[in-house]
Amino acid sequence: MRQVGFLVDVSRCLGCRACEVACKNYFGLGETQRYRRVEAVEWQNKDGIGLFYLSLACNHCESPECFRVCPNRTYKKRRDGIVVHDAGRCDGCCLCVKACPYGAPQYDAATGKVDKCDLCVSRLEGGLRPVCEDACNNGALKVAFLDRIDEEGWVKSVPSLPNIKLTRPSVQFKPPVIRKQWLRRTEL
Ligand code: SF4
Repeated sequence: MRQVGFLVDVSRCLGCRACEVACKNYFGLGETQRYRRVEAVEWQNKDGIGLFYLSLACNHCESPECFRVCPNRTYKKRRDGIVVHDAGRCDGCCLCVKACPYGAPQYDAATGKVDKCDLCVSRLEGGLRPVCEDACNNGALKVAFLDRIDEEGWVKSVPSLPNIKLTRPSVQFKPPVIRKQWLRRTEL
């Protein structure tokens, strides 16, 4: 099966949160809901420690836990790999919220239902890019068929991502280089 997913170029993310805000506005999300979120992360290797920004949404996993635990069959994995959620069938039990390792499904207290990133599937079908990709002026986000990624430097996981073995998230990352001059002052 072909699998569509996000490419996250961490080396290009400036932490401006334009993607997060664009998504929130486009979907009219409540105050506490975020289908996409940008978080500061601290990664370490033998050369030192670097502070970066990681933009994440639903990973449209190959083996989605949300789909597995939902008693109302609200989740569906499409032929292109996108995991969609039918909020009309949702009773707000939040089992998916607890099961998703990546915090993707978001409960809306106003509607009593859960929903999540659908990879802007209606925009994709209309030939448009997802709003998060459109909003990023630095090219840090891109949607692609993941089996077409043959450029070097893309990896399936990064240090702060929960273990990918359970759900096999459909996302790839380009990690930034951690340079020696970023060593903590105490380690100089
Ligand atoms: Fe489901 Fe969470 Fe995977 Fe999205 S990231 S497909 S909500 S398990």
